[in-house]
Amino acid sequence: SIRIVGVVGLGNMGLPMAASLARQGFEVLGFDLSAARRDLAAAEGIRPVAEAAALLQAADAVVSSLPYGRDVEALVRTPGGLLARRDRRVTLVDTSTADPGTSRRLAALLEAAGHGHLDAPVSGGPAGAAAGQLTMMVGGSEADVAAAQPVLAALSATALHVGPSGAGNVAKLINNMLVAAHLITNGEAFRLAEAAGVKAEAVLAVVNAATGRSAVSEAFFPKWVIPGRFDSGFAAGLMRKDVGLAAELAREVGLDLPLSGKVAALWADSHAAVPDAADFTRMADFRPRDGG
Ligand code: NAD
Repeated sequence: SIRIVGVVGLGNMGLPMAASLARQGFEVLGFDLSAARRDLAAAEGIRPVAEAAALLQAADAVVSSLPYGRDVEALVRTPGGLLARRDRRVTLVDTSTADPGTSRRLAALLEAAGHGHLDAPVSGGPAGAAAGQLTMMVGGSEADVAAAQPVLAALSATALHVGPSGAGNVAKLINNMLVAAHLITNGEAFRLAEAAGVKAEAVLAVVNAATGRSAVSEAFFPKWVIPGRFDSGFAAGLMRKDVGLAAELAREVGLDLPLSGKVAALWADSHAAVPDAADFTRMADFRPRDGG
């Protein structure tokens, strides 16, 4: 059974996930490299720990929400952490968006040490995380999915078991490849509307009642782009990472995807206009002549 959940990475996603787990009755330990994030966590009923190893030794299940696959690898290899632990099987529910190859390698490493691993990346943003209403796409064994069920259920409204290790991240990279394209195509579409003399809002209402709609037109444009708020809580640098990983995946499997390749190039070349720290929805306003 799972009573103590350790959450590693208390950022835009990890902190609201940890707070939601605490509200739902788990005892939650939280670790982040940043002391400021640990202090924020303490104010949300999370017990901050100053060393990852202490959390990894005490938790019944671990949830990670880290920027890159290499951060998750460092977590798994923490000296005195999971690989050194023998008292029970612990499942690492890795909600980070990372490359599927890293997920598969870490799953094998943990399995050899008697622990479980799920690549369980999420969609739904900080608001979905706070509400425990994320969409989760899971890669891993049936047994690990069953063992982590209470945690998956607490974090998500929908948890789809996609396949074995790596499958969750394959699904997530594909989802974000679509979102990354939709931001650019919607930006272009509404510029065309205005240039042709029709208000963007009027065309947006049409698209959302017709077949051109997507989460970008239905939610992102009304919430973050049209009002100029650009505060979704998802950094452009992280989306840039995801688009790059999707392009790498296509190369690995030998697929040439002409439009997706162009989308990836636009994201890669937009650093100057849409810096890594900017909100990812800024990409809706990007024009290649803005420079990269
Ligand atoms: P974030 O940058 O806000 O948070 C990451 C946190 O991890 C930071 O607080 C940082 O200090 C901490 N950290 C970095 N390396 C660490 C390490 N080695 N050990 C401990 N802590 C470390 O990022 P985020 O937006 O919360 O995203 C986290 C993951 O979730 C990423 O993989 C991202 O792609 C994915 N994601 C984000 C969103 C979103 O809307 N923000 C949505 C879905 C998925």
